[in-house]
Amino acid sequence: RRDALARYRDIPCVTQDGHSLTLLANVGNLNDIARLPQSGAEGIGLFRTEFMLMDAVSMPDEKEQFSLYCEALQLIKGKCLTIRTLDVGADKEFSCINQLLAEDNPALGVRGLRYTLRHKDVLHTQLRAVLRAAAFGQVRLMFPMVCQPEELDELFAEIEICRQQLLLEQKPFAEPEYGIVVETPAAVVNLSTMLPRLSFVSIGTNDLAQYTLAADRGNPQLTASYPAFCPAVLQLIAQTLNTAKAAGVTSSLCGELASDPRIAPLLMGMGFDELSANAAALPEIKAAICEGKFSEFVELAQKALQCQRISELESLLSGCQI
Ligand code: PEP
Ligand code: MG
Repeated sequence: RRDALARYRDIPCVTQDGHSLTLLANVGNLNDIARLPQSGAEGIGLFRTEFMLMDAVSMPDEKEQFSLYCEALQLIKGKCLTIRTLDVGADKEFSCINQLLAEDNPALGVRGLRYTLRHKDVLHTQLRAVLRAAAFGQVRLMFPMVCQPEELDELFAEIEICRQQLLLEQKPFAEPEYGIVVETPAAVVNLSTMLPRLSFVSIGTNDLAQYTLAADRGNPQLTASYPAFCPAVLQLIAQTLNTAKAAGVTSSLCGELASDPRIAPLLMGMGFDELSANAAALPEIKAAICEGKFSEFVELAQKALQCQRISELESLLSGCQI
């Protein structure tokens, strides 16, 4: 099977009836990126930059971050690099980051963009490094844990400050494409107000499920009964897709759902332009897409959106082993 899968690596991700999907990879560090050619990824759909803090004693400065992003761009040779700004807080704790306060509910606390908007030095360092790296390749920048347009008002004012600084300092930079991770129900509801500022959205189903179902994503007592592949989350995904499509904005999905080769074709059938999955899962996902027909995936997606129970979704998946 492994050899059979290897042949998918270098062929385009196109269904039997001629529909193509962009398949990207989720990565956390340069080692992951260096191994990407083996997976056949067409680029990076999620670079979790908080991983650079894993063993760091202090926050990497602008120069260090700039070289990291430039190195990543070199490794992927002209393909797209989607950088996510630091997603710290909740279960993502790092010794070099000082939390504002110890929080009673960290998953509902100062996390992701909420943290960086409160720590402008951290935000500016990363924004400046990304803007500078964007002069050297195809860079997209996305922001985690966004809920409402006020956050983007504040964020884009900070982006403008960084832009003005770089102009004044005569440092070369370019504009990345901007996007958000849709991972809270509020982001889904408020999406149309936020879209005019965005070129793409990427649905983070790990957190979207956690915040929709009020079920801690790391609590093993809950994972079986509150899976991300459930009717409530699927409806929110469909709503996001429809809203983004109506505004002409690219929709991607970077949560674990995309890494399941039984679910990826269904997601394609729902209308995603691209999916971003774990590199190890990509050959199998590509095989599932290339061996099937888009018309079948659309039918499967329509059936999935009719399901009212998790058990119905499960039988739908087991009935169509691809
Ligand atoms: C998600 O929430 O689905 C996601 C892709 O991000 P993370 O798992 O890093 O929170
Ligand atoms: Mg997330």
